[in-house]
Amino acid sequence: MAAAPQYDIVIANGTLVDPAAGRNGRFDIAITGDRIAAVEPDLSAATAGQRIDAAGQLVIPGMIDTHAHVYQHVTGRFGLNPDLVGVRSGVTTLVDQGGPSCMTMGGFRHFVAGPADSRVLCFISCYLVGGLEGHLYPDLYGPGGVNAEHTIRVAQENADIVRGIKAHAEIGGQSRWGLDVIRIGKTISRETGQPLYIHLGQLWPTADSAPIPDADELIRELVPIMEPGDILAHPFTRHPGGFVSASGEIHPILLEAVHQRGLLVDVGHGSHFSFDAARRVLDAGILPFTLGADMHGYNVQVSEPGADGSDLRAANPFFGVAPFNLTIAMSELLHLGVPLEKVVAMVTANPAKLLRMEAEIGSLQPGMAADISVLNLEEGRFQLSDNSGVTVTADRLVRPLFCLRGGVRFDADSPLIPDAIAA
Ligand SMILES: [Zn+2]
Repeated sequence: MAAAPQYDIVIANGTLVDPAAGRNGRFDIAITGDRIAAVEPDLSAATAGQRIDAAGQLVIPGMIDTHAHVYQHVTGRFGLNPDLVGVRSGVTTLVDQGGPSCMTMGGFRHFVAGPADSRVLCFISCYLVGGLEGHLYPDLYGPGGVNAEHTIRVAQENADIVRGIKAHAEIGGQSRWGLDVIRIGKTISRETGQPLYIHLGQLWPTADSAPIPDADELIRELVPIMEPGDILAHPFTRHPGGFVSASGEIHPILLEAVHQRGLLVDVGHGSHFSFDAARRVLDAGILPFTLGADMHGYNVQVSEPGADGSDLRAANPFFGVAPFNLTIAMSELLHLGVPLEKVVAMVTANPAKLLRMEAEIGSLQPGMAADISVLNLEEGRFQLSDNSGVTVTADRLVRPLFCLRGGVRFDADSPLIPDAIAA
């Protein structure tokens, strides 16, 4: 009888970029069961049940999307299928931002996080109703729609999948209730020891009766409520109330918040991403910590049997036509001049730290989860566009090939992966 192979799988000859481990170069990776068993310059002498040749390919720790919307069915069109956004797009971990709430966490655990092949976590919604239909009805999201005690209890009971608290600071809500909800969100965050994640940029129409709100005043009021480790999202939004002020400058208070007070920034790409805003924010010296894609049923094309729903999509304030996903967002940051190693850190080491899971995911070191993404870094001339009408020509395009999630292989065959567009 032949001896059992030393390892289940060896991924050989790839270019490993693992910022947390300080590795950037040619390495072989061995997997046993659902764990990384070895990372060595050369494992060609080792025996393996399966040997995958990754020559010419980029091998990185399993990608973590810090801003997903995958509470499928419960949040209407908004929630996407987790595995189409996740493992079948080369992404091993998803963080649903504010889909599930204290009232709907049970459904999220049993019908989404549990059955998915992707690792699915969440930031619990600050609001009782969660992210139903993508927060379409503003009247549900005032202070009267928040119960801190209930939310704290559910966050604590589900601490294995709840890794933070989600709320929105934007001028539609501000015109109705000021920032009261954010203050309650901070209480929930403090009581649970979980970071507060704040959506910036207009989401709701402003109230008819209110004076025209000042987006810059909102930032001045918001930042002092937030604490080190809390997250500001959507820095590159073209909607008012983001990092770029009405006069086109970066708010000095945001520069101070990020550089001196330890607030973190998540890209949260979505349909409101703007190359112009991104350039201004990066030029001002703010490098986002993490790179959430923020895909949902209103900003990506989903082919659903029986229903087109394009009118409904087009009426949504977050409707967009520029195709994107996490790897397109990575390609855009490369185009904007962010070095590859930093872009990789934004989808691996940094989100793992944000989730307080850096001993388990975000790096490829023996004993850690065998969550691995294998990508192609294609060279050529590729067209990338945003929804403000800007088109750029990039010379590199990141394309997912496959991933291992807990040692199980998934090919990147999701229909949500945009086609490469030649420039
Ligand atoms: Zn979102």
